[in-house]
Amino acid sequence: MLNNIKILWHQGKQFIPDVTTAKVPGIFRGRPVIREVKVDEVQLAEICPTKAISTGPISLDLGKCTFCGECSIQFPQKIEFTKDYKLSSNDREYLIIKEGDDEPVRFNPDLIRSEIHRLFGRSLKLRSVSAGGDNSCEWELNSSNNVQFDVSRFGIDFVASARHADGIVITGPITANMAESVERCYNAVPSPKVIILAGTDAISGGIFLDSPALNREFLLKHKVDLYVPGNPIHPLTFINGVLSLLKKKGAQ
Ligand code: SF4
Repeated sequence: MLNNIKILWHQGKQFIPDVTTAKVPGIFRGRPVIREVKVDEVQLAEICPTKAISTGPISLDLGKCTFCGECSIQFPQKIEFTKDYKLSSNDREYLIIKEGDDEPVRFNPDLIRSEIHRLFGRSLKLRSVSAGGDNSCEWELNSSNNVQFDVSRFGIDFVASARHADGIVITGPITANMAESVERCYNAVPSPKVIILAGTDAISGGIFLDSPALNREFLLKHKVDLYVPGNPIHPLTFINGVLSLLKKKGAQ
């Protein structure tokens, strides 16, 4: 008994007490800042493998960015990645970072359906669907459930069956082979239901955008409730995004 207490004391708190203010260590690349200095814009845009950078003036689309960092390595005076992990938004337009912006990524309250907060504010069950994913975002979704991030403490859980879920989390670029499965999974979730796109591949197709092996028609038919940028996503990006969608206090 004494030994167990010693171990518990030694280990300290395993969970992150406040997921909205936690600091991310290491080489994490979060929200970029684009400075208003003159560079060769064409050359800068050509570096990007996913056409996330637009010119005149320069802007960077978080929904397309793979966070490879190449633009900031080649043009450090122009683009810098901060450690701000609160990248999620319910408005696709808000994922576009413009020159001179240094504000957190915003949420659009007008786009949040009233029933989301009313019905899911205290309990949200999600079904994860890997639609041609490479397992990286899937791992990070798993991590959001581990003892450190512990998303369950907010009533947010992943469930095994779409019929027990309140919404789906799609990872991967949605391959043609998975298109029907995504649709069927979505149809199996009782209404009202939410759709979350997790990761660059799901939001825009990422590096697979022009591939004939994709079928992203699902996204033309259904409204997306939350975009979670990252390649892969960070658990804190996912958790803060969902908390904002549910209007939980303290979220971004
Ligand atoms: S970090 Fe993003 S914007 Fe920059 S080159 Fe890589 S994919 Fe493009």
